[in-house]
Parts: sequence; structure tokens; C-alpha cells
Amino acid sequence: MDEGWWPKPYKIKVVEPIRLPPRPEREKLLANAGYNLFYLQSSDVYIDLLTDSGTGAMSQAQWAALMEGDEAYAGSRSFELFQEAVQEITGYPYVLPTHQGRAAEHVFFSVTVCAGHKVPSNAHFDTTRANLLALGAHPVDLPVPEGLDPELAHPFKGNMDVEALAKLFQKESSRIPLVMLTITNNTLAGQPVSLANIRAVAKMAHAHGVPLILDAARHAENAFFIREREPRQEGRAPAEIAREVFSLADGCLMSAKKDGLGNIGGFIAVRDQDLYERCAERLILWEGFPTYGGLAGRDLAALAVGLREALDLDYLRDRVGQVRWLAEKLREIGVPVYWPPGGHAVYVDALRFLPHIPRDQFPGQALVCALYLEGGVRAVEVGSGMLGEEAKLELVRLALPRRVYTTEHLEHVVRTFAQLREKREQIRGLRLIAGTGPLRHFRARFQPV
Ligand SMILES: *Cc1c(COP(=O)(O)O)cnc(C)c1O
Repeated sequence: MDEGWWPKPYKIKVVEPIRLPPRPEREKLLANAGYNLFYLQSSDVYIDLLTDSGTGAMSQAQWAALMEGDEAYAGSRSFELFQEAVQEITGYPYVLPTHQGRAAEHVFFSVTVCAGHKVPSNAHFDTTRANLLALGAHPVDLPVPEGLDPELAHPFKGNMDVEALAKLFQKESSRIPLVMLTITNNTLAGQPVSLANIRAVAKMAHAHGVPLILDAARHAENAFFIREREPRQEGRAPAEIAREVFSLADGCLMSAKKDGLGNIGGFIAVRDQDLYERCAERLILWEGFPTYGGLAGRDLAALAVGLREALDLDYLRDRVGQVRWLAEKLREIGVPVYWPPGGHAVYVDALRFLPHIPRDQFPGQALVCALYLEGGVRAVEVGSGMLGEEAKLELVRLALPRRVYTTEHLEHVVRTFAQLREKREQIRGLRLIAGTGPLRHFRARFQPV
């Protein structure tokens, strides 16, 4: 079978109309949105690659499960199904549903992290960082240096720098309440973390008496990469690899809008009963009773199915294959893409695509705006606009919603880039005119310089 082809493991049963507004309309819409695509109406977007979060297509089995949702306040049957799925996948006995990933972060950190604490990770996701900062704690990113090179071929660029972690422990041991690993590493181009790295990080955390907590939003994609790239892992079932990954850690925070294949949802799962009890108290205060935690019973029922589907080998081959296909096509036409591509998105190096735009004029955001103007494509900036001074690279993320777009849709994205390439010198930088704080990118406004 040729490398670029794989059998699509689904066909389309329900369709949702989309439309490409004419160019003059797109110009007006973009200006009205303050050059921030979070302010666009989705009906004005043709191909929406803003995020893969909650934007996937559910399967017929998930829709069927939805109908059987048990909406009881306490002791819902849907919770039992959800809990069984999480326990089976993670091996953790204690499960608390939340309405999404950041709620899991909020509840969990509120009982584990204090002001002045330092929380190391391979790289914190934006909401994780913001939740830690809100508590007066310091998120510390310790990616391996390979991860910061957008061209270097390396199988696990999402790994944590274990030596840097050792140094941090030497200096700050008493201020580190836990260690986190984001799998895959979303802020760093969705790069995977190897089983060996997870094992090494776990060993170090445990040697210092603190738990390792996984930010597991894309754990299924990470398991697929381990199977593909790590020695002696070939041929193992993704579910088996995932189970081993979870067994090395002490708990996880999950946005089920990613590898839960749900439109909403999240959870905390831990091994320690005392920690569970403390989280459950806060959960009741902020999210809801522990058998629904901010979700409808039907959401829990659909997630119980989706969490298992996300570990299906054919599904994962299609998912990761689609991302790789788009990255390869873009690279073929000379677009500088972060290499190798990650599991959920293609990241374009905006600094190299638009070398005439200086970093303080948001080259990533300028490219995002140009993509919309040219082809009605909505992407997101992951650079100085999103991360401020912390930004190590100026990237544009093209996130693929799960099971939503066909190759023809992605061909339109490639064509849009090809057209932009021809006139890229005309693309101008931007000035930030409104927006503050660590989550400013959601509400920021810009003006062309
Ligand atoms: C999406 C995401 C979160 C936050 O989850 P939400 O469901 O968006 O609140 C946390 N960590 C990672 C790695 C994510 O991708």
C-alpha cells in the first residue's frame, strides 16, 4: 500500500452546508472582527481550522448513546458508563467529570498548588498556564531543545528536558508540588512524548516525592506516535500503549473535547483516594455533583463511546495520516511547516513565510488574517499574540477537526497557501490595540500597520 494512502474508516451520513463569502465581504468581516478571527461568525468561515477542540463529528454510536443519556442528578447510569470507560483506559480508580479541560485544571490545582509554587511541564497549554498564574504559581516550561527547532527531524520533539527538570528540583525542590506532562505537546506543535521520556520524568518526580500528572487531551494520538516511532512499540494496540503511559503517572487532567471525541467534556482521574475526595468537594462547588460534574448525562454517555473510539487503530491512522498529508502538500509547495507534523495540526513557521514582518508586528497573526482573506480559511496564531514574551516561535496552527473535512477541503487550504505565496511581500504586519493578560488572544484587537 502506498505511503500517502490509507482506507478511510468512515463515510458521511449527515452533511452541514458551508459557504465561501465573496472576497469584498471577507475584507469587511475581517476589519469588523478587529483582525482577530475569534470574533468571526462561523457561518462566515469556509474551512474552519481554528481548533480541534469540541469540533469533531460524533459517530453514529455516539449519537445513539446520546439518546440513552440518563439525566438523573445522582447515580446516573451514564456516569457509570463514563467512569467505566475512563477506568478501563487510564487504570485510575477515581474519576470526576468536568464540563471541559480547564475546569479540571481549576478544580485540581485549587487543591494541589499554592502561590509561589513552581509547576514544571514539557510545555503548559494556555489555559493550564493561566490557571496556575491565577493561583500565584509559576508555570515552568522545560521542552527538549530539539522541540524548538522547527526543521530538525526527531521522533519525539514533545519530550521534557529531564536534565533541566533535575536542575529545577535541585534549586526549588520544596516549591514543586507536582510535575506535569502534556501529551501530545499542544503548545509545541502537537509533538509526541516518548514512553521512555514519560518513564524518566515519572522516576524523577517520584524520587522527589511528588506526583506526575498528565495533561492527557491528546493521549490517543500520542499513543499512536509511540507505536509508530518508538523502538519495540510497533504493532502494539494504541489502547495498550495508552494504558502503560497512564500507569507511569499518578493521575490526569483531560479535555474530552479532543481525544474524547466529544463536543464538550473533561475529567480528572487519579489513583489517590484522598486527593479525589478533596477534588470532589471543589467539584461540587464549581461544577456539580460528582456523577455529572457540569455535563448532561447524554454528554457522559457519548463520551463513554468516544473515548474508546479515539483509541481505534484505523481511526488514528486516518487522523494522523490526514495531518501528515496536509503538512507534506504544504511543504511540497515551499511553505515552511514545523517538521515532523504532530497529531492534530499543521504548524506553519510564520517568521520564515513572512520574513519581512518583524516579531513585534505579529507575523503569525498577519498570516492568519491573510489566509482568511485569500481563502476563507480560519487558523490560529500560536506566537507572540497568544503567548506574549514567552513565545519561543511564531507559529500558525491549522488544527484539523476530527472526522470533519475531506481531502478536497484540505486541497482548498493548500491552494490558498499557494496563492498567498505568490504575493506574500504584500502581507502587512499588525499592531495590538486592545487585549491584556495571559488569555488576551481570545479577545485582542489589531490594526494593520
Ligand atoms: C484543550 C486543552 C486544554 C483545555 O481544555 P478545554 O476543554 O479547552 O478547557 C488543556 N490542555 C491541553 C493540552 C489542551 O489541548
